[in-house]
Amino acid sequence: MTHDSSASPLIFGGEAPSPRAALPTLPPLALYIHIPWCVRKCPYCDFNSHTASPVLPEEEYVDALLADLDQDLHAVYGRELSSIFFGGGTPSLFSAQALGRLLKGVEQRIPFASDIEITLEANPGTFEQEKFIAYRALGINRLSIGIQSFQQEKLQALGRIHNGDEAIRAAGMARQAGFDNFNLDLMHGLPDQSLDDALDDLRQAIALKPTHLSWYQLTLEPNTVFWNQPPTLPEDDTLWDIQEAGQALLAEHGYAQYEVSAYAQPGRAARHNLNYWSFGDFIGIGAGAHGKLSHPDGRIVRTWKTRLPKDYLNPAKQFQAGAKDLTNDELPFEFLMNALRLTDGVEARLYAERTGLDLASLDAARREAEQSGLMQVEPSRLAATARGQLFLNDLLQKFLS
Ligand code: SF4
Repeated sequence: MTHDSSASPLIFGGEAPSPRAALPTLPPLALYIHIPWCVRKCPYCDFNSHTASPVLPEEEYVDALLADLDQDLHAVYGRELSSIFFGGGTPSLFSAQALGRLLKGVEQRIPFASDIEITLEANPGTFEQEKFIAYRALGINRLSIGIQSFQQEKLQALGRIHNGDEAIRAAGMARQAGFDNFNLDLMHGLPDQSLDDALDDLRQAIALKPTHLSWYQLTLEPNTVFWNQPPTLPEDDTLWDIQEAGQALLAEHGYAQYEVSAYAQPGRAARHNLNYWSFGDFIGIGAGAHGKLSHPDGRIVRTWKTRLPKDYLNPAKQFQAGAKDLTNDELPFEFLMNALRLTDGVEARLYAERTGLDLASLDAARREAEQSGLMQVEPSRLAATARGQLFLNDLLQKFLS
């Protein structure tokens, strides 16, 4: 599953932060809540997810999440939450009762914006209709369902616990439970996948009429089973054909690409993820969760929490495992590695607003990137070209001090 990008920001070394102007305004504030358990570990997964025991420590974990949040409150006093994202792991393993207590506790601590987006990741095989109805009644108004493929042999190769029919039923259950806004996670570039296989999956997903599709390529990540025993993946030419034909199919059905792997119907881009990509603020609570908070004095701080669930739940240990003030040298890269993922980039003025740095300081690297055809020549926006998105690492290199 795509999950949530708070899972893996870059962490830099420990030099002292340079002085910076106070930020004119603070960005929107989101909350990421990590639920670190799954029915079993998928062989391609490098997320902080752990095989669940038959009885989950729901109550204990909710208590810990709220205590963890309490420790971050001093940094967000007077602000409201624009979005909440339950990611994992598999948040849909948790009962509606536990999530209800958690949401209530969060709202008692930080006010919710009147149009707050609350998303929960759900995996087929871990919920039934009643659970979705109960989630909806809690105010959760967006689901992200981890389908990955509809083809049995592909699902088996990916170690998924559900079959294609369950995936289809999941979308129906979401709709019937009153979720008019849901995402389907779908992968391509799967073991032995042909162009036709990939397009069949995509057609089936489109037929379920989700408002949003996260369509992303399987990659082999260190510390996974697939890394140690790699499956046979499609050749580069096939991957290219899948990408091109898939994008055309999505566009034909009204799904506009707005980020490297994200496609949405009009007005249905994920607000929580847009906040990451436009360098907004977020608190991260839960095992291994990352956060990023801007302070009125100009400091921008990344935090990360204790990673293993057993340590996170151990009262003798701290929730926060580390924090890092971002320096003036790190901020351009940090801002752009998010913003340039967006197909249309961001308004250029946002750079100074979110980093406290002068936009003109990017001029030399920007010119170089424009001349290489990696960035759009557009004074009022910071945006990669299509080629720049393909070679995002090369583009970002230009902004490393
Ligand atoms: S369900 Fe998602 S988080 Fe859990 S192991 Fe599989 S890919 Fe990882």
